[in-house]
Amino acid sequence: MSVNEKIISVLKENGIYSFGFVPFSDCSPVNKRLYDECAERGMKSVIIFAIPYKTAQKPKDSYKMSAYARVYDYHKKFSLIFDSLLCELKSTFPEYGFLSYADNSPVNEKTAAALSGIGVIGRNTLLITEKYGSYVFLGSVITDMETESTRTALSVCIGCGRCAAACPNNAIGEKSFDFEKCLSYISQKNVKTDEEAELLKKHGTVWGCDICQQVCPMNEDVSLTDDGYFTDSFIYELSYAFIEAMNDADFHKYPFSWRKKQTILYNISLINSYNDNKKDDS
Ligand code: SF4
Ligand code: SF4
Repeated sequence: MSVNEKIISVLKENGIYSFGFVPFSDCSPVNKRLYDECAERGMKSVIIFAIPYKTAQKPKDSYKMSAYARVYDYHKKFSLIFDSLLCELKSTFPEYGFLSYADNSPVNEKTAAALSGIGVIGRNTLLITEKYGSYVFLGSVITDMETESTRTALSVCIGCGRCAAACPNNAIGEKSFDFEKCLSYISQKNVKTDEEAELLKKHGTVWGCDICQQVCPMNEDVSLTDDGYFTDSFIYELSYAFIEAMNDADFHKYPFSWRKKQTILYNISLINSYNDNKKDDS
């Protein structure tokens, strides 16, 4: 068995089926201090992989909330994966070192993933994987072991423009992305302008926005996850009362808890008042 075959076997044992290998030196740094530390430790390879989070479940409420936010936060999921994955990699290759990252990698994980061949960069700036579309989170393991690179040319999506046409606030340009216009960004701001609050009301956006992913043809017929970590935590009936009644421990299991409860409650109340006014007018 080659080194890559052994690693792939460990990845699959841990439920990871979308992965690639790129030389550490081909990856661009996003955290210079960590990157330099890795370089000093002689790190040679990046094992990059994607974890799907989108389930087949459908919400019963009409609030717009990104699929990733209706389920438990992925950081805990990655920590569970890394506990097992690193243990197995270290026992399979005891002479080598392994460091794991999700979100906090020294290298640009999205570019590394695209370079490794597991996906392409969409016009909406997201990585779109062949297996799971863009509904993924990325993790990486950096090692001082040589692996066989799967590096390919950096590719972009088919460029159909559906995401740009569907974006409710024109955040997606021909070759640009204005994150300040993105409803996902706006929904997560603690303080919103009147204009931003109007946008959230009008589109019923509570947290995140998946419109550019929903219309993307490269997301059609992709594999969904049936991992209990995500399916068991799915929020079917979002409401002000549901969030308000959450105790701190439960609230902090969800991705929207990186802001205080007040932020998401405020967003829900905006939409509730908008809907109440519409009812009164009709
Ligand atoms: S997430 Fe929504 S607002 Fe943001 S770019 Fe995509 S469609 Fe536009
Ligand atoms: S909708 Fe079309 S242009 Fe936008 S990311 Fe998907 S494939 Fe690319």
